[in-house]
Amino acid sequence: MELIDKNALSMELTNEVLNAYAKADFRFAHALNVFQGLIDKAPIVEERKHRHWEGGGAYYCSNCNVYAATDVFGGGLDITEQHYCYNCGAKMDGETE
Ligand SMILES: [Zn+2]
Repeated sequence: MELIDKNALSMELTNEVLNAYAKADFRFAHALNVFQGLIDKAPIVEERKHRHWEGGGAYYCSNCNVYAATDVFGGGLDITEQHYCYNCGAKMDGETE
């Protein structure tokens, strides 16, 4: 699946060239309205959150507060190698407050 930006696509439908065609041909204008309706009704995919690990020693996700993954003995894994929260999917490249 490739994600696209709905707002950017909508802006493309209102550019000068397409507007000129729409003014010259009512069927083209109607088609643009149909396309805009399809864009408006397209499903929204949840945007990935960008968060960070909080704490020290025992790190937890700043989005869902779940502790970072551990090894099978409950020992902490290297936090710099845990780029995503396994629980909520947040990408751990967000700024630390
Ligand atoms: Zn999380």
